Amino acid sequence: MIKRFLQKVFTKKAKAQIAINRADSSDTSSAKIISTKTHKINKNLISSAALKTCEGLQKEGFEAFIVGGAVRDLLMNYKPKDFDIATNATPEEVYKIFRRSRIIGRRFRLVHVLWGNETIEVSTFRGHHQTDGDGQTADSGRILRDNIFGSLEEDAVRRDFTANALYYNPTREEVLDFHNGVADIKANLLRMIGDPVTRYQEDPVRMLRAVRLSAKLGLKIEKNTQAPLQKLADLLQDVPPSRLFDEMLKLFLSGHAVESINALREQHLHHGLLPLLDVVLEQPLGERFVMLALKNTDDRIRIGKSSNPSFLFATLLWHEVLKAWEQYKAQGHNFIPALHMAMNEIIDAQAQKLAIHNRFTATMKEIWGMQPRFEQRAGKRPFSLLTHPRYRAGYDFLLLRCESGELPMELGEWWTQFADATSEARAAMLLPDTSHKKHRRPRDKKPADSVEQVTHE
Ligand code: ATP
Ligand code: MG
Repeated sequence: MIKRFLQKVFTKKAKAQIAINRADSSDTSSAKIISTKTHKINKNLISSAALKTCEGLQKEGFEAFIVGGAVRDLLMNYKPKDFDIATNATPEEVYKIFRRSRIIGRRFRLVHVLWGNETIEVSTFRGHHQTDGDGQTADSGRILRDNIFGSLEEDAVRRDFTANALYYNPTREEVLDFHNGVADIKANLLRMIGDPVTRYQEDPVRMLRAVRLSAKLGLKIEKNTQAPLQKLADLLQDVPPSRLFDEMLKLFLSGHAVESINALREQHLHHGLLPLLDVVLEQPLGERFVMLALKNTDDRIRIGKSSNPSFLFATLLWHEVLKAWEQYKAQGHNFIPALHMAMNEIIDAQAQKLAIHNRFTATMKEIWGMQPRFEQRAGKRPFSLLTHPRYRAGYDFLLLRCESGELPMELGEWWTQFADATSEARAAMLLPDTSHKKHRRPRDKKPADSVEQVTHE
């Protein structure tokens, strides 16, 4: 029912909107056609879901190509982590072909086709955006809307880098190359399509993409693509926070976060990306902590382990939390309530500026909230901390604090041993319990930071 209803709505809208010229769309005359002999793409690296999606579209008479990062990765003989498909079918037409599919997106309408737990993103060829007073671009040149359908060739022009504008037809096993992307990849170059300044002005996020993709793929940013970066860095201030967040998340989880952050700093692009990252990267302890955390994440991702974004954001903001915590304590608030006030303050500030999704903040708070408990090594408390559902994340976080010099290494080592020990050995490791004193003291006379086990200051 719902599917039917949506179909109706979208078909109506699409008919009005489509400036698609199907006759044009198969014009590949300006593309180099590269055969298997030259591109040597290993078809085993392509997910069967992507192949089935292309076949499904082609069977209905549409064009369908694997496009973007996946083709680039295949040419470099990496296994792509996700597959995008470009087609001349409209979102509604795609939606009708695949039973398990849904139309998503406002800025770009595209279709997610689901196969088992894999999602293939299918987008209709996009055409040229209009300019000059049509409401599609901001004064700075930034494109606000980009949802006009077009031909295959037009679709290639509006992609960012030559290496990202390659179209692979798995049936014919051919790569269509409109902008010399294959030669650039061979020459190890990341080159912007068109005039780099205009392309960065249209979408400043491309500056971050240049840095991220060059770090991730080991491609050198081509001279003219590189030249305007520093001068245009301020354009990033204009980008909606949620887009910055998505791009930064990709960067942090690329397996090359350390190189990317270093490159961003060299290009003077890191200011204002994460409102508090600037501050953190300029405090010696904060910097050491953040870089250790990023290196850890990189190592995990490179050996195929997953990494939890909540953990990463908890590390990025920890030194801000510490600062606010100190302030609340100095104002006379008790130790633990002061920590909770600090956590909330930092999260609230970020929620406004960076749009950290709510789904991450609960875990971040759990990781932070657990930290004082690691400093309590007497009585039953260490045992109950071990059973905390997020113990592992809290413990990893503690180790980073020790490694960065914020806490004595001995504390981290104690927990490593304690978690591994037999129950008798654990009992022997506990520190003397002096907490009973606190029960005798009337509540209102308790000085602010009297929890005796905590050695944080
Ligand atoms: P990754 O391997 O990190 O996913 P990617 O190049 O595939 O890198 P995506 O964000 O998945 O990056 O984008 C898919 C494709 O969409 C890109 O290869 C590129 O062709 C196009 N694209 C993405 N972002 C932009 C942009 N800001 N401007 C122009 N084209 C873009
Ligand atoms: Mg991709």
